[in-house]
Amino acid sequence: MAETDTPRIVVGVPKEERAGETRVALSPTALPQLTKAGFDIVIESGAGDAAGYPDSTFTDRGARIGSRDDVFAADIVVQVNVMGADAASADLARLREGLIVVGAVAPFARPELVKAVAGTGAVLYALEMVPRTTRAQSMDILSSQAAVAGYKAVLLAANELPKMFPLLTTAAGTIAPAKVFIVGAGVAGLGAIATARRLGALVEAYDVRPAAREEVQSLGARFVELPLETDQEEGSGGYATQLSDEAIKKQQELMAKTVAASDVIITTAQVQGTTAPQIITTEMIKGMGAGSVIIDLAAEQGGNCEPTVAGETVDIDGVKVIGVVNLPGEIPVHASQLFGKNVANFLCLMVVDGAVDLDVDDDVIQQSVVARGGDVVNNRVREALGLVPLPEPEPPAPAPEPDAESESPEEAAK
Ligand code: NAD
Repeated sequence: MAETDTPRIVVGVPKEERAGETRVALSPTALPQLTKAGFDIVIESGAGDAAGYPDSTFTDRGARIGSRDDVFAADIVVQVNVMGADAASADLARLREGLIVVGAVAPFARPELVKAVAGTGAVLYALEMVPRTTRAQSMDILSSQAAVAGYKAVLLAANELPKMFPLLTTAAGTIAPAKVFIVGAGVAGLGAIATARRLGALVEAYDVRPAAREEVQSLGARFVELPLETDQEEGSGGYATQLSDEAIKKQQELMAKTVAASDVIITTAQVQGTTAPQIITTEMIKGMGAGSVIIDLAAEQGGNCEPTVAGETVDIDGVKVIGVVNLPGEIPVHASQLFGKNVANFLCLMVVDGAVDLDVDDDVIQQSVVARGGDVVNNRVREALGLVPLPEPEPPAPAPEPDAESESPEEAAK
């Protein structure tokens, strides 16, 4: 979009408040795109320090540095964790009617946070609600951060495993490659497969979606076939649908042998908006060799393994079950760069003729809004809060049938 004479839209980037968060919502690489689109950027002093981006890296690209109050005085505030993921955040007092807040909200896990922001009159966009469509991929924070997490999960496992990953033939004998099993071949799972393969491991993977088989195989891993008869198709927004308890039980029985033979397991199975399916039982883990490692990426959603505790390592007969949280925060330079690009692409969609248009006719923007006009406007979040659902918006009027006698666009253009 060309620069215009209309007043520029100010975007504020506060320092993250959530404990252990190192990322920042915009990295300097995202700034030129935003400046060109009509935004001015104000960064809270030190907001990028933990991510490896000192203030000067932002001012070099045209941003100004300010206090926390300056940042919240902007037209739009962007955050990795909106309100520090805390429904009682002191920043709620800094919000005001009409202020736009954009970031990760976890709206189904934290409906109270959505309600608290709604109560201030601010407009809240939860970037997790961006649909998983080809067009929206460049704004999908779950995908960009999961790809980083899948990579880091393998490095963590390799570090913990008392064995090497690659096949090694030496004068002192041959070392067999490590066996790595990836459960759930979505974004994080595919990232983990690619990284484990690069390190030379023998990789197997499983997913309930039959469409995942080809992707797994294209990365050089073996797809584990479990004859489950689940009729699993992709659900809405590009996500899988939930398995029944019975199907999960059958899955566990069929998977036990692969689990027992693995040195490393990385679990990433999830169905968006639900607690993680519990796929690997303590009994199954007891069948693994001592020294084996499980990295449970779904720990924060309840975990894919029975003994998982988020943020902790549990020892089951010498097998480490590591419930990781915020792995992207351990690679903050690139995680912030990707997150920031997602945010910048999202913000650019909201600008029409140099001004923010909340009613812009765009499904990515419209599906992401969770609070507006003092109310919670997403019905699934309302349900979680025990609020009555709002009427669903009218479907758009069908386009008029082409009139056989009317001129074609080509003719009209003549
Ligand atoms: P995704 O939706 O792309 O992938 C999840 C996959 O799990 C899908 O392919 C789905 O078909 C599969 N699945 C669902 N139920 C299954 C079952 N019963 N058995 C086997 N597979 C099943 O999700 P993603 O973006 O790759 O994220 C995966 C998980 O990693 C999520 O729980 C996410 O929150 C988590 N994550 C954690 C971190 C971290 O730092 N801990 C960071 C990013 C993502």
